[in-house]
Amino acid sequence: MRARGDVLPKTAESSQYLYIQTFGCQMNEYDSLRVERMLAREGYLPTSDLNSAGVIFLNTCSVREKAEQKVYSFLGRLRSIKVRNPGLKIIVAGCVAQQLGKKLLERFDYLDLVVGTRGVASIAQLLERSQVKEERIAHLPEEEDQAHWLHLFERTSSIDSPVVAPVTIMQGCNNFCTYCIVPHVRGRERSRPMAEIIREIRLVANGGAREILLLGQNVNSYGRGLPGKPSFVELLHRICVETEISRIRFTTSHPKDLTDDLIACFGELSPLCKFLHLPVQAGSDRILRLMNRGYTASRYLERIERLRTICPEVGLSSDVMVGFPGETEEDFRETLQLLDEVQFDNLFSFRYSDRPYARSADFPDKVAEGIKARRLIELQSLQAEITLRKNQREVGCVREVLVEGPSKSGDGQIMGRTQQNRIVNFQGTERLIGKKVQVRIMGAFSHSLKGELAEYRG
Ligand code: SAM
Ligand code: SF4
Repeated sequence: MRARGDVLPKTAESSQYLYIQTFGCQMNEYDSLRVERMLAREGYLPTSDLNSAGVIFLNTCSVREKAEQKVYSFLGRLRSIKVRNPGLKIIVAGCVAQQLGKKLLERFDYLDLVVGTRGVASIAQLLERSQVKEERIAHLPEEEDQAHWLHLFERTSSIDSPVVAPVTIMQGCNNFCTYCIVPHVRGRERSRPMAEIIREIRLVANGGAREILLLGQNVNSYGRGLPGKPSFVELLHRICVETEISRIRFTTSHPKDLTDDLIACFGELSPLCKFLHLPVQAGSDRILRLMNRGYTASRYLERIERLRTICPEVGLSSDVMVGFPGETEEDFRETLQLLDEVQFDNLFSFRYSDRPYARSADFPDKVAEGIKARRLIELQSLQAEITLRKNQREVGCVREVLVEGPSKSGDGQIMGRTQQNRIVNFQGTERLIGKKVQVRIMGAFSHSLKGELAEYRG
């Protein structure tokens, strides 16, 4: 059981424990963190034990079919827990909740609350209503429910910020890539006011955060709907000047909106980590056009070249999909060629799946599952070779590492990340958590590096 700080439950009953399960992206992680903080104010203590929970909160994702299936299989496990503990309240939020609404309550008759993507701010009130009135509720507002989120970050003595704190700067997306459900379940793009973002960053920095991860589906279009249309580049500059944060990362950038002045930031702003996640999706211009991505493979490569000219040591990762409708073997080869050319440090690769509302679900020439599977294996083995080779080149170098916490290996080591987002495990005390240290890289694996402390300046 994980119990932090000074928030005490209203009573000592088990109904005051909150279990959170987050599926999908980092933006969902951020929303879950907000819900954890919101319900902590109501007296709920976090737990990692499903059986002792009085409230189970599921934050769901339906970007890919597999992600959606994972949610249903988790929900299936909860039936017997609810039978044993009828007072348990089960809340489903996120994309699956938005997509299915009331139908989810019908399909899983032991669910209590279904909360759409614009309703998260009301969860505490909805939970209370469901407890007092024994109601089952589907809450799917058209407009974002308003909340004063910032006060949640003020009680830093009760919930400390993680060393790397996510900060969502915008919601929704206007891009309508033909395969994507996001604009349909998350709505149109909405940017948070800059002053509010700066304030939140100061608060999480006071709570112990050293690095912030700015989140949005397309951060480079930040500010378009705000008065005065401030840009993402302005936001980055202001964070550097007005906060004490020592590292900044952001995700996700869209290649079509990666401007020269954003690229210039990698040479100008020292807190900005030398790392960029830039999803390419495919290497074939024909497929990129069908996806409505708004760039060609050569434009993508030109952006990478410019970035590497400004910042030669930049680390790069990307998202790629195989088996988009109509993808031929030749199109697929062009994707492999692009991977070979760019030499990404890391890659997230997926099999295309039809999604509700997405235009590509109606496209002809669907690729057989067996072919998608074979293409994915080939693509992943090419990338595995590239990643390992690039990791091996790190051996012998000394890198700046921000220590995030104990290593997952569980052998008493600690872990952190280089600016290029490489995980490094090394021997060190937990006193170093939250500090930047110099680490000599001693060994390389496919997903991490092994190091030893070279230097630590107080
Ligand atoms: N906004 C980001 C972007 O433009 O790349 C990320 C969006 S999505 C949450 C994350 C990744 O999921 C995408 O980059 C894409 O590779 C993958 N994805 C989205 N829809 C998909 C689908 N229908 N089938 C398979 N993968 C999909
Ligand atoms: Fe989906 Fe495209 Fe928007 Fe990313 S940019 S969220 S892939 S529609």
